[in-house]
Amino acid sequence: MADKIRETLFNLSYKAYHNAYAPYSKFNVGAALITHDQKAFVGANIENAAYGSSMCAERVCIYSAYANGVKKDDIIGFAVISDNKEPSMPCGACRQVLNELLNDDVVIYVFNLEGDCIETNIATLLPYAFDETDLKNV
Ligand code: ZN
Repeated sequence: MADKIRETLFNLSYKAYHNAYAPYSKFNVGAALITHDQKAFVGANIENAAYGSSMCAERVCIYSAYANGVKKDDIIGFAVISDNKEPSMPCGACRQVLNELLNDDVVIYVFNLEGDCIETNIATLLPYAFDETDLKNV
């Protein structure tokens, strides 16, 4: 089961990688997630001449899933892929978003194009995260 999830997420994110719009950084990134009922969502980084308006593949992916009705408990796997010798980890902003929208035990597969993979999760990527509990200490 885990190998099938990993293979599916690699294929989905690899395809999304090729749809990135990254004329400025030339650094394509793809992302994908799947749900327990076999729905799949993908994202790619989308840049803009006004750099701050750009969006990472991971957030495009998970925002699209939520916009289509997916909830945190539905997601069983998440992946990100880029062209780097060592698989490139999600940036800090994406970690903050994933911390809120993914359960701690969801495996995050971080691939390069050759299929090398680091399996991690959001609790590992963002320890001591700022979350809703921090808003209640006022
Ligand atoms: Zn990011």
